[in-house]
Amino acid sequence: SPSIVWLRDDLRLADNPALRAALDRDEPVIALYVLDEESDGVRALGGAARWWLHHSLASLADRLAERGGSLVLRRGPAARVVREAVTDASAGAVFWNRRYGGAERRIDAGLKESLRADGVEVASFAASVLFEPWTVTTGSGSHFSVFSPFWRACLAAPPPRAPLPEPREVAGPKHPIASDDLGDWNLLPTRPDWAGGLRETWEPGEPAARGRLRDFFADDIGHYDRARDEPAAGATSQLSPRLRWGELSPHTVWHAGVESGRAGKFLSELGWREFAWHTLFHFPDLATENLRREFDAFPWPRLKPTHLEAWQRGRTGVPLVDAGMRELWETGYMHNRVRMVTASFLIKNLLIDWRRGEQWFWDTLVDADAANNPFNWQWVAGSGADAAPYFRVFNPELQAKKFDPDGHYIRQWAPEHLSEDPPEPIVNLGETRKAALDAYEEVKRAP
Ligand code: FAD
Repeated sequence: SPSIVWLRDDLRLADNPALRAALDRDEPVIALYVLDEESDGVRALGGAARWWLHHSLASLADRLAERGGSLVLRRGPAARVVREAVTDASAGAVFWNRRYGGAERRIDAGLKESLRADGVEVASFAASVLFEPWTVTTGSGSHFSVFSPFWRACLAAPPPRAPLPEPREVAGPKHPIASDDLGDWNLLPTRPDWAGGLRETWEPGEPAARGRLRDFFADDIGHYDRARDEPAAGATSQLSPRLRWGELSPHTVWHAGVESGRAGKFLSELGWREFAWHTLFHFPDLATENLRREFDAFPWPRLKPTHLEAWQRGRTGVPLVDAGMRELWETGYMHNRVRMVTASFLIKNLLIDWRRGEQWFWDTLVDADAANNPFNWQWVAGSGADAAPYFRVFNPELQAKKFDPDGHYIRQWAPEHLSEDPPEPIVNLGETRKAALDAYEEVKRAP
């Protein structure tokens, strides 16, 4: 009886423990991907994410076909759709790599139980994080809310396992089961087609991801510590969408870093990714609720839609903010330093609720994920785990002087700011900063 490997955020063949388990059963293997936009609590993908998903699935389908297999695509509530696939294929086993969001865990646990009750073998594996959230605990057995001790505990744990090799053959069953046509899923934008910048910037799929990993450790890692904060330097790995979609496993990236012998700082950035998933696991409402509940008392003023729109479109009149927001719109990516500055500007100069910003990033980032995005927004807002204190308001002008001193980044994305007649900021930075700090006083007074 065939084995099903249910692929989710792990669109790769190499270092894929669920796929490995399916192959080890020595029966035909069906690789299944389910587009689930219906199950309770599952967050629908943003536009840029859908674009990436389409191309990553197309690439994976090609690679499976080269190895004698195929990718089966189905759409609908995962719990129902996976069971239907098991029936259609008369499958004897289902394997997957674990997920850590609240709704996803409920779906997976329910499915595991019901499939087992029907006599189907089910097993799940750790593949998307280096340290599973429940395995890292404080001395008193609880979860961490501060990064440094969290990461120390991770580093004291057994080191991440070595990556598994890529299978040469993934033979499917003689009689394949029905699959949707990827094109019918309409993941790509049409009217208007806003994805030109994404196409120019990225090549989704496992082979390109491995190429980028190789190039980064061959060429860029030497500049990383010095230049990682400069948005024009191109010194960071740009591996975030690869990790988001699982085209590379964190284990593969980790071991490449360790082998390079000079990736200490880089590896601790992977640690922040681990910490974000740790936090989401213990706080599943991370995208909608303040982690520090005293922030519920924050008096957000009535939303000014024109301000929100100016921010989204990169028309705030503040050079680094406009440059960042346009890089995001054009490429589906923004440099980390600029993400912090644009987020701080939205929350603390425009006094717009961090959830609005999180939602926009969710829709426009190719690396948007359920843990890192809300985790980092709450970090900037001051409401999150180990967050920047609220009163730390990034000054976008000083940040630009420090990290883009020659204006390369601003020239690339928002050149009008360097003209004779630059646009005026839509708000006064000093006054709005003060208004934000006054509003914050209410949080401090909250019981
Ligand atoms: P590198 O510097 O090369 O870092 C290597 C890897 O470490 C990254 O690919 C990423 O997986 C991880 N990493 C680095 N910084 C962080 C961080 N602060 N938090 C968690 N992981 C980190 N990252 C996402 O992957 N998805 C998101 O949706 C996301 N939203 C963000 C929203 C805001 C407001 C901010 C301030 C940051 C956000 N980040 C997010 C974190 C960070 O900006 C990106 O991971 C980073 O810019 C990706 O570029 P890189 O791969 O070149 O990073």
